[in-house]
Amino acid sequence: MTVPTERLDAFQTALRASFPDVVLSTDVQTLAPYARDESDLGEFPPQLLMLATNTAQVSRALELATELHIPVTPVGARSGKSGGSLPIEGGLALSLEKMNRIVEVNAHDLLMVVQPGVLTAQVDEAAAALGLFYPPDPNSAGYCTMGGNVAENAGGPRALKYGVTRDYVIGLEWVLPTGQVVRVGRRTGKGVAGYDLVALFVGSEGTLGIATEITVKLIPRPRVVKTALIPFRNVSDAARALSSVLTSGLWPRTLELLDEVALKAIAGRGLPVPPEAGAVIIAELDGNHEVGVLSELSMLVDQCASWASLEAVVAQDESQRERLWAVRREVSPALRALTGKKISEDIVVPRSKVPEAIERFKAAGARAGLIVATYGHAGDGNLHSNVLYSTRADWPRVEAVLQEMMAITVELGGTITGEHGIGLAKRRFLPLEQPLALRELQKKLKVSFDPSDCMNPGKIWE
Ligand SMILES: Cc1cc2nc3c(=O)[nH]c(=O)nc-3n(C[C@H](O)[C@H](O)[C@H](O)COP(=O)(O)OP(=O)(O)OC[C@H]3O[C@@H](n4cnc5c(N)ncnc54)[C@H](O)[C@@H]3O)c2cc1C
Repeated sequence: MTVPTERLDAFQTALRASFPDVVLSTDVQTLAPYARDESDLGEFPPQLLMLATNTAQVSRALELATELHIPVTPVGARSGKSGGSLPIEGGLALSLEKMNRIVEVNAHDLLMVVQPGVLTAQVDEAAAALGLFYPPDPNSAGYCTMGGNVAENAGGPRALKYGVTRDYVIGLEWVLPTGQVVRVGRRTGKGVAGYDLVALFVGSEGTLGIATEITVKLIPRPRVVKTALIPFRNVSDAARALSSVLTSGLWPRTLELLDEVALKAIAGRGLPVPPEAGAVIIAELDGNHEVGVLSELSMLVDQCASWASLEAVVAQDESQRERLWAVRREVSPALRALTGKKISEDIVVPRSKVPEAIERFKAAGARAGLIVATYGHAGDGNLHSNVLYSTRADWPRVEAVLQEMMAITVELGGTITGEHGIGLAKRRFLPLEQPLALRELQKKLKVSFDPSDCMNPGKIWE
């Protein structure tokens, strides 16, 4: 489905009348990168690209799009894994990448105000310069945007101790699908006036409007961080060790798990893993006193030893720590390189069910003749289980495995997405988790914000 050219021309003429220097493009080559993201769901080129530079432009564009019935897809850095930024109905791709200014860093009030195109890593860097901390750390932090993080309620390894994006966003400048600009939330430590629209907009996947300014809270930065790599012979032992760590009274900031397929994918990249290892845990603890943090790390390693861990390696300095995380960040593309294609899931199960989930996903893959690799934020129960495949001809088998994985997740009391969102990738699975009445209630919300259904149509809802 595409928008007739006359309507797009009318849109461009009217927008240029208000903003003569607005950046719009219909050039096929310029549009091409905006046709895809990291979801592996295919190519969906927009018909028109807008690189917004201020809120007034975004507001007028949405007002006109509503009037002219033009679908609008907000775009950040296109690192999303659920297809949220894919313009599946053509129309306008509205990119926020040029709105990339840090507006305010306020150490006294422990907050930062940023435009949506600021990269996540830049927020934590600016906080660190003042001894402060912005904990959400998606593994894509070096290239994903704060607008995309808000839309997906992004998490990351540190979510185990510190929570996800929604736990840090306290205020938003938000352009509603009709073009109306609202400010929701606060700049204070607490505040409960009215409904919590910030919480609703964070995680709304570009379907309820566009974030044009984001206020996040900051916290004091822990002075000491220690990281250990703990190998195991197999992923089941590692998964069982994870649960036991969390009931031992320790509160690490990360407990990441990599199974034997993930280890194979990153072999030779410098992770110090013995040849007999079939899984590893990357555990990280923080605090303000070196001795205390090291002593807790040693308790954690001992706890893992009761689950037959192999010899742990503790990063000796910042460069070793960084090398370890750099390799961890390479897992996703390295897995894709194994067979050429993959679908990356981000399910969450109750922590006690992690070992069972991993075993059942692998078995489901094996029955279909496909490999399911699992890595991710297992301390949260959040597993990136990846179905690896080679060609589109494999798709019926991939789909069968995905269906089974989603059903297992729900059966175990879990949720089908912990951080990537429903988007296009999982909308067909949502009924497995949420009954019709609940879906209908949410659709009423969508209609009240976006009566003409122009905002990222086809995402979340079929
Ligand atoms: C290697 C790799 C590792 C990753 N690791 C993690 C991880 O650890 N944790 C995690 O949570 N995710 C992870 N991701 C997924 C992805 O990076 C996140 O979902 C991220 O939040 C997307 O940001 P983006 O700027 O790329 O947004 P895009 O992909 O461009 O868009 C994502 C969604 O946000 C909407 N959107 C974008 N900007 C705005 C805005 N200003 N207002 C309203 N809606 C908007 C889009 O319409 C779309 O629905 C990873 C991705 C990759 C490729």
